[in-house]
Amino acid sequence: MADVVALGEVLVDFTPAGLSENGNIRFERNPGGAPANVLAVMAKLGVSTAFIGKVGQDQFGKYLQITLNECGIDTQGIVFSEDVRTTLAFVHLDEDGDRDFSFYRNPGADMMLQASEVNLEQLEGIKIFHFGSLSMTHEPSATATLTACKHAKKNGALISYDPNYRAALWKDEESAIQAIHRGLLLADIVKISHEELELLTGTSDLDKGSLILLDQFDLQVLLVTLGEQGCFIGLRGESALVPGFEVTAIDTTGAGDAFFGGFLYKVLSRNTPLNHFTKVDYLESVQFANAVGALVTTKKGAIPSIPDFAEIEKLLNS
Ligand code: ATP
Repeated sequence: MADVVALGEVLVDFTPAGLSENGNIRFERNPGGAPANVLAVMAKLGVSTAFIGKVGQDQFGKYLQITLNECGIDTQGIVFSEDVRTTLAFVHLDEDGDRDFSFYRNPGADMMLQASEVNLEQLEGIKIFHFGSLSMTHEPSATATLTACKHAKKNGALISYDPNYRAALWKDEESAIQAIHRGLLLADIVKISHEELELLTGTSDLDKGSLILLDQFDLQVLLVTLGEQGCFIGLRGESALVPGFEVTAIDTTGAGDAFFGGFLYKVLSRNTPLNHFTKVDYLESVQFANAVGALVTTKKGAIPSIPDFAEIEKLLNS
C-alpha cells in the first residue's frame, strides 16, 4: 500500500537536443507529466508512491512504465490501451528561449482513462491523493479523475491539486475554468502559478487572490509559485512570501512539480493533521520546497535533475 497516489497524464516529451550533421533539430525522448514528476520527487525522498494513468500498448508506453518503476514508483495502476497511442509532446524553443509545446493527443491515451479502469481499493488507506487539471480536459479521464479523487477523500486522504492551465489543451478558457473549479472544490492543498491565480480570481494581488480561493473553495493551503522569487503561501488568516534560493538555473522544466513534491514530502513527514501545523511548520515546508525547486533548475530535465537529501540539506544550510 502506497502512502501517496497520483492520477493523471503521463506522456513523452521530445525536447530539442542540438543539431544533426545536416543541421536538422534533434529531439530527445523524455518522460513528461506533472503528477508523475511530483511522485518521482517524493519517491527519491523515500516515500512509497503509486501512479494511476493510461498509456498506449506501444514502445513509448513501455518506456514510461519502466522509467517510473526505476524512480521507485509503483506502476500497477498504469493501464495499457490497445486502441490509442501514448500521448506525445514536442517542445520547441522560441526566439526568446521560451518553451512552446505541440501536443500529439488526438486523442492521446492519457485522456482515455475510464473510471472503471481505476482500482478504487488502491485509494483506500492512503495519506495523500494528488492530481492536476490536465486529466480533466476531456472525457472519459475527467470523470475517472473526479471519481478517484472523491473516493480517496471519502477514505480520509488529504487532497493535493495542481491546476495547470495550458490554453492549447482546453476547448476554451471558460471550460478550463469550470473544470479547474471542480478540482478546487475537492482539494485541501493547492499549488498554482501567479498567472493562474490571476486567471482564476481576476486579480494579480497575492493576498487578495489567495483569500478569494481559500474562502470560495474552503482550501487549507494555497501555494503560489513565483519562479526565482520563491513562493507565496496563503493560509486561513495568514500569509507569507518565502524567498527562493539563488542558483544558476539552466532548465526550469519540472521546477513546479519538484517544489510541490518537496512540500508534500514535508507535510507527510510531520505526520500531523494539517490543522495542527503551526505557521513555522508551514514556512519550513515551503523553504524545503523552494530548495528542491531551485536545485531542479540547475540541471537538464525534470526527473534526472531531482536532488537527493544531501544536496537539499547543503542548499538549505548555505
Ligand atoms: P512549472 O514547472 O510548470 O513551470 P511553476 O510555474 O509552478 O511550474 P516556478 O514558479 O517556475 O514553477 O518554480 C517553482 C519553484 O521552483 C519556485 O517557487 C522556486 O521555489 C523554484 N524555482 C524556480 N525557478 C527558480 C530559479 N530560477 N531560481 C531559484 N528557484 C527557482
